[in-house]
Amino acid sequence: MKPVTKQVCAHLIRGTIWNCNSSPFSDPDFEEISDGALAIDSQGRILGLGTASSLKRLFKPKNETHFKDSVLLPGFIDTHIHFPQMNQIGCHGESLLGWLEKYIYPEEIRMSHPQQAQRFSSLFFDELLQNGTTTSLILSSSDASSTDILFNSAKDSGARAIIGKVSMDRLAPKELIRSVSQDKDHSERLISKWHGKEGRLFYALTPRFSPACSNAMLRMLGELAQKYSGVRIQTHFSENLDEIKLVKKLFPKAKDYLHTYEDFGLLNERTVLAHCIHASASEINRMAKLKVNVSHCPTSNLFLGSGLFPMDAYSRKEITTSVGTDIGAGTSFSIWTTLGAAYKIQRLRHQDVSTAQLFYLATLGGAKALGLENEVGNFEVGKKADIQVINWKKKSILKARMENSQTALDRFFSCLFHFEKDLIEAVFVDGKPVFARQ
Ligand SMILES: [Zn+2]
Repeated sequence: MKPVTKQVCAHLIRGTIWNCNSSPFSDPDFEEISDGALAIDSQGRILGLGTASSLKRLFKPKNETHFKDSVLLPGFIDTHIHFPQMNQIGCHGESLLGWLEKYIYPEEIRMSHPQQAQRFSSLFFDELLQNGTTTSLILSSSDASSTDILFNSAKDSGARAIIGKVSMDRLAPKELIRSVSQDKDHSERLISKWHGKEGRLFYALTPRFSPACSNAMLRMLGELAQKYSGVRIQTHFSENLDEIKLVKKLFPKAKDYLHTYEDFGLLNERTVLAHCIHASASEINRMAKLKVNVSHCPTSNLFLGSGLFPMDAYSRKEITTSVGTDIGAGTSFSIWTTLGAAYKIQRLRHQDVSTAQLFYLATLGGAKALGLENEVGNFEVGKKADIQVINWKKKSILKARMENSQTALDRFFSCLFHFEKDLIEAVFVDGKPVFARQ
């Protein structure tokens, strides 16, 4: 018999593997490989996935890391988070519009100063990575220099990030307002400097929400969306009933809230709309036709009392849905905790969301929402190795719960309610270690 020539790989990482391969909305799909492994090349791409013994027959690794008693799963994807709100988690007693005015706008003015941005931006990415989040869609402040600082920190941290400078030209303190021409100039400069950088940093056009933008601002952003075809678009939509009333007052000619974005060419497969709680049937139909993506932000919706997200209405229309922490209305940097809250919201609606669906929302669903499904979101051969490693034996109550458990999905589900960031052992982006617990 001819001996098999083994392929050299840069790194073989071993541990139990949790992965999903397609959308559980149509085809429930979650796999566990105990004593599994990933073979990774020098560019951080996945060469092989399988049991450790089968991969060892195929590959000759230059390095090997064995995470005993640990699970390797795709790095989570947060599709809605505000950098300048990171220090405002837990501000009491307001719903959306009052909360913005009382707590958030003053903080965003403070975080627009380059010194503050410098002080907190590396901490922001540390916090994401330590919670197992490897990719995020981030809203910065409306200030271009502090957004540039945030991009620099993303670059240094090793995280994968899509970042946008918030655009607003009305209904906000003057320090946060930029004219349409200033905003265009700042956005284009950031796009040319950062979009596509290192293959893991991208730009997102970011109207805050239509009440804070004039028609001229929305039109200009729509034109930039046309001009820069790879750039993403992110904003808020249909979060709160008073917000919807305000949109009606400010856009008397628009047929509904969605129309205020639709009219200016801001809705397509590159758009992520956060919240989408109170959308009408017509709006949901048009979102499906336009292939817009949704970011569900459950801890934020509970905190501000915004409402209960109708997940089934979006899955029926096969609208790509993902999850966001929405820090600082959201109460945790952890997507694990966020998924737990997503489950509770559907229970309050007397609806079910399966464990495989929850796993999908934070992995492949997030990747699809960001147009990164060919790069990340699961452990398919050829994709980038973005991995989080969780060691559930570190917490005795979780260890006992896991040992009593019969299925991998049950083990994953229980982790959502026991999560603490100390359980995250290591995190890799592009196959490179970006966090290791000491
Ligand atoms: Zn938000």
